[in-house]
Amino acid sequence: MKIFIDPGHGGTDSGAVGNGIQEKNITLQIAQKVREILEREYNNVSVRMSRTGDQTVSLNQRTNTANQWGADFFLSIHINSGGGRGYEDFILSNLSSASRTAQIQRAIHLEIITKNNLFDRGSKQADFHVLRESNMDAVLTENGFIDNAEDAAKMKDPSWIENVARGHAQGIANAFGLQRTTENDEYKVIIPNTAFWQARYLVREFQGRGYRAQGVALKTYGPNEQPAENDPYSFVLFTDYENARNLVIELKNRGYDRTYGTRITS
Ligand SMILES: [Zn+2]
Repeated sequence: MKIFIDPGHGGTDSGAVGNGIQEKNITLQIAQKVREILEREYNNVSVRMSRTGDQTVSLNQRTNTANQWGADFFLSIHINSGGGRGYEDFILSNLSSASRTAQIQRAIHLEIITKNNLFDRGSKQADFHVLRESNMDAVLTENGFIDNAEDAAKMKDPSWIENVARGHAQGIANAFGLQRTTENDEYKVIIPNTAFWQARYLVREFQGRGYRAQGVALKTYGPNEQPAENDPYSFVLFTDYENARNLVIELKNRGYDRTYGTRITS
């Protein structure tokens, strides 16, 4: 499955601007994350991008590259402006709602709108160059309004970028029946509720054993406040499936009865 990802604008074309940010940078961040998720977490996916940095790329270059490569799907990522708010996506005008492209649009819309925390403007059609001149199914997403203060604040948050990218990737995966990789899956081992001192002790121990591990505070602290030794903390460790199973058993045997493992997914 060949997926062509097109981060809107770039180089001398900044796209929409507002609230101190530029469309071209946000679209690239989302696109790179979508690529990373698709390549890491799904089998038999190959991704190409119309740009991987801040380059100027014409609309013709974008569709020509995708057509010459023989992409199976064209995803164009944009940020809106002009006084509205929220998320919307487009396929080419006059496509029937029963068309394959419209099905793909619905799959993508559903996954994105449940993850992006934006107002839902709906699924739409338009005669945009990238939708018209690409030979394959194509969807263009408009991920919020850069000139809307609330939408723009979200765009500055890396976890929002991640969620939006996850929505795009999951939508594509659903629409095309992509298979998840299993052997490379990352797992988390979690002790949901322990004391701060215990979480700190475990983090040191497991970091010493070569793992990525961290404690997560279960209450909020003021800027000058320190957690007390017995404050509630959870302990999280990142590993692969085999190790996760063994570590859950080990930690349960050590008295952390509520330890569990879970796959890191959307
Ligand atoms: Zn744009």
